[in-house]
Amino acid sequence: MARRNTGPTPATVELVLKRDNRICRRCGCEVYGERGRDWVLHHRRPRGIGGTRRPETNYPSNLVLLDAVCHANVESQREVSYHDGFLVHQYDDPERTAISVAALGEYRWVYLYADGTEGPDHPHERVTVLDGRFQQASPSVIERLFAYHADKLAAAAESASGLVEAEETYTEEAA
Ligand SMILES: [Zn+2]
Repeated sequence: MARRNTGPTPATVELVLKRDNRICRRCGCEVYGERGRDWVLHHRRPRGIGGTRRPETNYPSNLVLLDAVCHANVESQREVSYHDGFLVHQYDDPERTAISVAALGEYRWVYLYADGTEGPDHPHERVTVLDGRFQQASPSVIERLFAYHADKLAAAAESASGLVEAEETYTEEAA
């Protein structure tokens, strides 16, 4: 193929489809049919010029499943889309920008994490929670979280043995 593929890897596509449960995250309807025609993995922060050089462009945190109708609405109703997190400015990090997703007839604000999971907590707060979610974070996420919270972690490590274990896990994965 002459055309360069600037989209997510097949593994990331599968991860996002699994996370989104094949439901359009804007209207809550099940998606079906063909990718690109009936549904898309929408880039919240557009790839833009040179956008593909930023690795997070194709992280699950920047991708969301939309049906074709909602995708068209996201692109045409840009002000609302920025407010709801379906669009993210180039100067923002998608992982740290909440998105209002449809859930059982309601809307709720969640964060889409780079590792393909999602939750109500700002990524910064995932460190201080120190529950199972922390250890599920991908090495890249953990690396950034460590940078943000190095001082808090050092203090917490003295009182929490669970954190020491988490750090050891991280070191092994990073090696
Ligand atoms: Zn939809």
